[in-house]
Amino acid sequence: MTDAPGSMGPVLSVRRVTKRYGDALAVDDISFDIDAGEVLTLLGRSGCGKSTTLRIVAGLEHPDSGSVHLRGKVVVSTADGIFVAADKRNIGLVFQSYAVWPHMTVEQNIGYPLKIRGWGRNESRARIEEVADMVGLSAFLDRQATQLSGGQQQRVALARALIHEPDLLLLDEPFSNLDTELRSELRFQMKHLQDRLGMSVLYVTHDQIEAMDLSHRVAVMYEGQIQQLGTPRDIYETPANFFIQRFVGKILTFDGTVAARDESAVTVDLGEGVAISLPSEDRELAVGVTVRLTTRPEDVRLGSDPGTAELAIPARIGEVSYLGHQQDCKLLCPGGENTLSAPKATELSPNDTVTLVLDPAKVRIWPWRSA
Ligand code: ADP
Ligand code: MG
Repeated sequence: MTDAPGSMGPVLSVRRVTKRYGDALAVDDISFDIDAGEVLTLLGRSGCGKSTTLRIVAGLEHPDSGSVHLRGKVVVSTADGIFVAADKRNIGLVFQSYAVWPHMTVEQNIGYPLKIRGWGRNESRARIEEVADMVGLSAFLDRQATQLSGGQQQRVALARALIHEPDLLLLDEPFSNLDTELRSELRFQMKHLQDRLGMSVLYVTHDQIEAMDLSHRVAVMYEGQIQQLGTPRDIYETPANFFIQRFVGKILTFDGTVAARDESAVTVDLGEGVAISLPSEDRELAVGVTVRLTTRPEDVRLGSDPGTAELAIPARIGEVSYLGHQQDCKLLCPGGENTLSAPKATELSPNDTVTLVLDPAKVRIWPWRSA
């Protein structure tokens, strides 16, 4: 598909959108763009405003202020009093709940958007077969939709959302009602389909693995705001704040106080007679400032033999949970309690003393006010 002249630029632009429900600020001054062929995910805990944002883009909700542009055309502008109805926006929608129509066959379900657009029977049939094939439902076209499993019903919903070649596909936790194995299978299919069709997608999820795997860019939301927008790698490797780092992946934390600093390093006292030195040019980390140090578990090893460029933190093993493929152990460390997974072959017993070996370049220092 080629772009018509003048339709270059983002497929979707959301500008300064705000939505309140009574006193609650569900969406708080949000702006972002989606480019052609891009998957952008809104990621955040339940209640942070993801679905409200998506519903405003879909035209199912009126914002209190702000504007939305689809392919350069204004579909919402509170300033100009514009609101284009949902069915006049060329978008495809899939929600968490299986929204198949029970009294229709799979074919009728998938073909519904063509029917309301007045497509002829033969033309429709060919297109339905094409889309059913894409989502692996070719063999089920004559079944009643209710005779399908949950995963198959969501694929019907996806096929129906795709069939009229929407400018933008909106997916709100589409796999959340499915069991883990099916979720990852559908995620894999979804990714494959997106690669093949180059769809522009606004994806909503609270699942960071889904967000990382499917998205070109991720917008991490918290209390109605976008706190960080970047590639999955940006978000994981250089989180804008502690809460994003904790939300996206696992971390170990150590609380302490800056005990000394020079041009290029700080020394952090973790208590129990342990102090470590870390590279930092951040002037705000003055002597006396309380800080929280964080590092990813994959950047930590349990060992007794730190290299010269590594940091060693002594820890005592607390509880050990045997999980079959690995064991999770609680570690009582200076500056806090942590959990680390270890290979099942490692000998770990409660109360043993171990050394955590850290790479100073992989430790982040967040100024911290304890509650
Ligand atoms: P998410 O999809 O991230 O879980 P939502 O966008 O559904 O979050 O909700 C954001 C906030 O707005 C929540 O506090 C929620 O309770 C509130 N909210 C959402 N829809 C309504 C509504 N129709 N009426 C009142 N409050 C709502
Ligand atoms: Mg939601």
